[in-house]
Amino acid sequence: MPVELVLASNNAHKLDEFGRILQPLGVRLRPLADFPELGDIPETQPTFEGNALQKARYVFDRTGLPCLADDSGLEVDALGGAPGVRSKRYTPEATAASNNRRLLRELRGVDQRAARFVCALGVVTPKGEASLRGTVEGAIGDAPRGHHGFGYDPIFLPDDAPGRTMAELSPAEKDAISHRGRAGRRLPELLERLL
Ligand code: IMP
Repeated sequence: MPVELVLASNNAHKLDEFGRILQPLGVRLRPLADFPELGDIPETQPTFEGNALQKARYVFDRTGLPCLADDSGLEVDALGGAPGVRSKRYTPEATAASNNRRLLRELRGVDQRAARFVCALGVVTPKGEASLRGTVEGAIGDAPRGHHGFGYDPIFLPDDAPGRTMAELSPAEKDAISHRGRAGRRLPELLERLL
């Protein structure tokens, strides 16, 4: 019987990406849209792992169903790890275009452009809870390029795909190296213990 997990996220891109990554593992994701009564899920912790577990706990406590949540973002070394857990709302508009513009402005003239995407996963089930993280190292480019993906993908140059931004990779290429792909492929470690 396929395992069912509620994905505690309203981000359709994440539902797609996790759905693709987890399908070969026999895991079927249920979207949060199946539970409209839940409303906004709090996300107030200072770490990616803290936020992932906070979101998974919130949905598990209200549905009683095994729950997966992620929290992800971009850490830029020259900015002391910013935008970090504030990646989604790095500007008041909170759009990808405005966030990317702000980051490029802050790094204008800065040579040290190392950055990484981080994805923490939290799983909460009747047996307990646990978290893990996946990362992809890279650098911030000089201008946006490419139309795949979302968020900061057009300005992130992953070390694993020299010369291309994350937004210039096909979905399958992104999954193979991404923070979310790496974290997702380790998910069986958590599920073996918690399901
Ligand atoms: P979350 O929904 O709180 O995890 O916010 C994650 C934010 O980090 C997104 O809104 C994006 O700005 C950024 N982010 C996370 N993962 C990715 C990715 O795979 N590509 C580009 N940006 C990402």
